[in-house]
Parts: sequence; structure tokens; C-alpha cells
Amino acid sequence: MRIVRTVDELRAALAPARRAGSRIGLVPTMGALHEGHLSLIALAHSGCDVVVTSLFVNPSQFNEQADLEHYPRQEQRDAALAAGAGTDVLFAPSVEEVYPPGFATSVEVVGVTDRLEGAARGAEHFRGVATVVAKLLCMTMPDVAYFGQKDAQQLVVIRRLVADLNLPVRIEAGPTVRDGDGLAMSSRNALLSAQERARALALPAALDAACARVAAGERSAEALLEAAHEAMTRSGVEPEYIALVDPDTFQQRETLTRASLLVLAARIGEVRLIDNALLMPAGTPSANPQLAGEVVA
Ligand code: AMP
Repeated sequence: MRIVRTVDELRAALAPARRAGSRIGLVPTMGALHEGHLSLIALAHSGCDVVVTSLFVNPSQFNEQADLEHYPRQEQRDAALAAGAGTDVLFAPSVEEVYPPGFATSVEVVGVTDRLEGAARGAEHFRGVATVVAKLLCMTMPDVAYFGQKDAQQLVVIRRLVADLNLPVRIEAGPTVRDGDGLAMSSRNALLSAQERARALALPAALDAACARVAAGERSAEALLEAAHEAMTRSGVEPEYIALVDPDTFQQRETLTRASLLVLAARIGEVRLIDNALLMPAGTPSANPQLAGEVVA
């Protein structure tokens, strides 16, 4: 695996593969790699000839200075993990390489970004995400870029961005990877104390509670959200939001008549976590195909 730090080095490293018509896959990450990231790299490895993993803690998408400062950084460990999972080129640029002096352009996806994560974290969050993803796609020019269903709203924003700007790349989503006890893997989990780690199980417990109500035939969003809310507060966690939304638009749903996403966010101490599950109305082939397709590490 080669480690490159500039856009020129990245393009030079990819030039022979591009000339040969090889398929290039990109997995954007902010590092502190875990099994969730590695599953995306493995997915890219199985679908592409050359895999680029980017490692960049993007300051412009952080709405809290403390979150940016405390974000775990461990490049050596990440490099070994990325190589082991099938990365060919690790792109680890500096902040100055991505945002050189005079940088003045941003990409803003409107509509889907004004609710839930967008409302909680402010417009700058998704503007930062959209801008850096647009830049990483232009820098790498991959055939396919891979993102996790764990960040479901981000995935919708990126699909919108790629469609609206006619970017010549296919976006593929990978299922959420969970620890054995159900907690979705996240780089921020490393910041939880043992007690907080136990309380964080309130998030998957809330999703499970809603899934159980769906399996019992419940279709009212209000009832499903109440079940999720109750499971969370029973574990001593107050949600920041819990919502049932259309998976493509993130518009709120009143009734579970079609596949819908249950999305939620909560703060465990200082650490903000998000999770989601796809709910299918009872009677459709699988009560929860996304959870069924999820990977337990
Ligand atoms: P991050 O480093 O948190 O920006 O995440 C980089 C990519 O990994 C994003 O596409 C995330 O959606 C994805 N990701 C994060 N956590 C998980 C997980 N538990 N399972 C699958 N993908 C994940």
C-alpha cells in the first residue's frame, strides 16, 4: 500500500491504473478505522481493481470545536488496518492540501439537509460534508465511491450531490457494522467511558423496540416512536431526536406503509451518537432486511 499526501501524488499513483482502464474505488473516512470502515474497504476491494482509502478529519464539517479537537487520530494504526483490508493507496492529505490559502468554494445541498442531523448540527455540517466529498471525488475520480448506511442522511446528501452535479461516479452503500451487543461501530465509541459504553446500548435498544412493534403489526409512526423513546429513556438516555422518515428524502412519515427509516441521535456524556434501522411494514417479505443484512463484528 502506498501512502500519498498531495493531490498530485494521488493522481500520479492512479495514472497507470486509469490508463489501463482499471476500476478505481474510493472509501472516504476520517480515520480511527474500525470494522465498519474496513467492511467498506473490503466491499471496494471486491468490486474494484484499485482501492483508494482517504484519511482526512475534515474541520469544516465539525460544528463543535471540542468534537474536532477530541476526534481520535491514529494514522499508523489506520494505515496497517487499511492495508490489511485491501487498500492500495492511502490518501492522507493535510488540512492545507485540502483547503489551501484562498479557498473560497463550498457545495450546498438544500432540502434534505435542513432536518434532523442538519437541524441538530447546523447548516455548516452538511455543507462541510458535501464540499469535502465533492473535492475527494474530483481529486480521485473513482468509478465507485463507498459510504456507510450508518450515516443514512449523509448518504442521501451525497447521492443528491452526485446526481445534481452529474459527477461520473457510482455511489454504493455498505450495511452498518455492529459490535456483538448491537452498538453500531463509530470512531466516537472510543471516547466513551465503560459506563457510557453500557448506556450507549440505549440506541440499538430503541431500534429493537420499534422493530418488535413493527413485527407485532404496528404501523403508526407515533406508536413506533413512542416505543423507541421509552426503550431509550428506560436505559437512562434522552434522545436528541427520533424520527420515522422516507429513506430517500428524509421527509417524516406518519404511517409505516412502505419501507421507512427509523433514525435517532443521542448524547452519551460528551459523545454524540447516531443510528438507524430500516423498518418494513409487517407482512412484507422481511420485517427488517437492513438489520438482517447488517454485519456483527
Ligand atoms: P467516518 O470516518 O465516520 O466519516 O466514516 C467513514 C465512512 O464509514 C462513512 O461512509 C460512514 O458511513 C462509514 N461508517 C461509519 N461507521 C460505520 C459502521 N458502523 N458500519 C458501516 N459503515 C460505517
